[in-house]
Amino acid sequence: METLFGGADAEQVTPGEAVGFAMVAVERGVDRYPDGLTYRIPPALAGLAEGQRVLVPLGSGDRTTRGTVVSIATEPPPGLDRSRLKAVTSIADDRPPLTGELLDLARWISRYYVCPIGLVLGAMLPAAVRRGTGLVTSTFVDLAVLDTPVRLGPRQRAVQARLESMPPQERPVEIRTLAEMVGLASPAAIRSMIAKGALVATTRRRIAGDDLPALPGAIARPELTADQRTVVDAIAAQLGAGFSRHLLYGVTGAGKTEVYLRLVEKTVEAGKAALLLVPEIALTPQTIARLLARFPQVPVSILHSGLTASQRHRHWVLAAEGTARIVTGARSAIFAPIPHGELGLVIVDEEHDSSYKQDQAPRYHGRDVAIRRAQQAGCPVLLGSATPSLETWLNATERGLIEVHRLPRRAPGLNVPKVEVVDFAREQRQHGDRRVHLIGPTLGRALDSCLAEGGQALLLLNRRGYANYIACSDHRCGWIQTCSECDAGMVCHRPERRDGPGPEFLRCHHCGSEQRVPRTCPECGHAVTVFGLGTQRVEEELRRLHPELAETDAVVRVDSDSMDAAGDFHRVLARFGAGSIRVLLGTQMIAKGLDFPGVRLVGVINADTSLNLPDFRSGERTFQLVAQVAGRCGRGEAAGRAVVQTFQPQAPAIRLAALHRFEEFASLELAERARFGLPPMRRMIRIVVRHEDLAVAGSAAGELAKGLTALPESDGIEIRGPAPCPIARIAGRHRLQLELIAEDAATLQRLVQRARGDGLVRPGELVAVDVDPVALL
Ligand code: ADP
Ligand code: ZN
Repeated sequence: METLFGGADAEQVTPGEAVGFAMVAVERGVDRYPDGLTYRIPPALAGLAEGQRVLVPLGSGDRTTRGTVVSIATEPPPGLDRSRLKAVTSIADDRPPLTGELLDLARWISRYYVCPIGLVLGAMLPAAVRRGTGLVTSTFVDLAVLDTPVRLGPRQRAVQARLESMPPQERPVEIRTLAEMVGLASPAAIRSMIAKGALVATTRRRIAGDDLPALPGAIARPELTADQRTVVDAIAAQLGAGFSRHLLYGVTGAGKTEVYLRLVEKTVEAGKAALLLVPEIALTPQTIARLLARFPQVPVSILHSGLTASQRHRHWVLAAEGTARIVTGARSAIFAPIPHGELGLVIVDEEHDSSYKQDQAPRYHGRDVAIRRAQQAGCPVLLGSATPSLETWLNATERGLIEVHRLPRRAPGLNVPKVEVVDFAREQRQHGDRRVHLIGPTLGRALDSCLAEGGQALLLLNRRGYANYIACSDHRCGWIQTCSECDAGMVCHRPERRDGPGPEFLRCHHCGSEQRVPRTCPECGHAVTVFGLGTQRVEEELRRLHPELAETDAVVRVDSDSMDAAGDFHRVLARFGAGSIRVLLGTQMIAKGLDFPGVRLVGVINADTSLNLPDFRSGERTFQLVAQVAGRCGRGEAAGRAVVQTFQPQAPAIRLAALHRFEEFASLELAERARFGLPPMRRMIRIVVRHEDLAVAGSAAGELAKGLTALPESDGIEIRGPAPCPIARIAGRHRLQLELIAEDAATLQRLVQRARGDGLVRPGELVAVDVDPVALL
């Protein structure tokens, strides 16, 4: 481990040559806690600044590695021999250094989420920015002042004449543009004029790339309702007055987005920048379209994974240069490089959405980082939701940490959808045949009348693929197909081909491996049957029930199998908005945030898919999903109706979601969590130990548990486990977990900081640390 210090190798020592010392976080998972590795600053790099990106030698082979200067000091940290430290090699790029605000944020994330700071900094800087994707250099030319005349050919004289005729503010001109103006096929003649000295050339760098297809967004600026006005006024009064926390708790369709837009407007008017986070991709198109439509004159920087690399790069630079006054995007947009002192408001739309939690290191929660960032910037943070997370709800109500603003009614012109819960088992019996009908009689009739009346429908099933059970047809055998690399079942998929069906195949949704569907049971030789649910099967049934829709492409399935890029989803939404798509079916991608007045019916094919997962948040998630998807209808003149099919019509999560009773559900659920000592009443850190060899994973987890228990900081902490994770093996690696639970985060933090400093916990391949975990599989 010695070699991880900047200078443990004796051979390249140049003692004394240092004008200071830099703590450098390298872009690797090297956990030199807390701030990275110490390097010497050679005299040639005397101007080195914090936040600058550098190249440094790493390890015994001195491999050149990129890193970020996290801090600079005049003396090395105690205990390091300055004569043995390696030197920073060079400055890596000409990008402006990371702002102090972001560096502080990176330090906080590294500590709080127990992640090497190099990985945090890596997550902050999109890969496209690091690599400079799409950067193109263009040459601009203008007339040179000539002492002696230069001989020019006829085409070159035309170029000269053209430039002379242009007003000075239009020069210099990009050479390809100039060539076109004069009717030249290539700029070769112009280049030779530069060589002769007849023209002066300057180069400019810009980032190439087109923008996403535009979506129609509402441009109208409606009169605020009295409720909206009260909220806008209350929060606007806090703008410019330092850090404050707000929750906008408003039913679906209450006009929360309108409140955001007004507050963004006020922030921009005050000369500050506003940052709006939206959940990953699903919600992004429509909310962002509304934002762009409302502020056509304001430069907006959009940061999310649906962009191409060069688009990301361009939008990032827009924020970094301070040009963008509005920055928006999914989770990682919280790392937007808005210059110091400019951030005036942070908004987290649909704050309950689990896509805000990153599921790989750094395992940060975008909402919680947003709160932290607002605190650093000294500005208000506004969380919005119709179904707040119980964490936020507890903080806002019982704990009084967040000010609650309510919008209890839907916006003018919208009606409250009537939600019907139907017993799926009983519905099946009504069919009178033995086939499984994914669209039961009640939902089927509702769909017929919705379509007959010219309405549009959304059908939700939160599972991709065709069917999720592949088993022996002989129930005495009991064989079920599982993934060879994971302790989990496989899902049958139909190939996505327009030219007729190809063979079905099986895919594991955990590791992605695929195989053919076995014809016969490997245990007993009986035939294999495929059953269960998936969006592809709903699509098949829908096309059978409504061939007239299928013929005109008026049925479209939306899930991560059918939508390759953000652009696909944008185009589908644009067609849905225009009315040529009548039924949109899909996974939770269609459950969130969509605002289309034509939607009269929402059907939930099976509300139980998430209810029975071995995760204490399954009830909360089910409530959110049902309430959110039901909220997509009733946004136009016609009454909205939702039909929720379920095998558990009495489950509180489903029953209360149908009745729009969030607060009642929240208090029931919080009481349950309190009873079992679970978040949000207490805090949790989950540590997963993974290895191909079960014995290795087992002994590492056992030693970790013993080591943690032995530390004095473990007082007041309940350590559960080690125990196998609910999915005990993924991609060939066995998984064991420890759950650390305590009354407050600080108690847990003390223990893991100590353990990390001692080297007992080393986040990496073997050990994954998840602070405030949201997924427990
Ligand atoms: P939420 O985000 O709370 O679900 P939205 O912001 O999507 O709600 O608003 C629902 C619809 O109501 C949108 O089409 C929006 O344009 C419209 N709306 C919002 N506020 C008003 C208002 N004050 N008057 C009229 N329409 C409004
Ligand atoms: Zn697998």
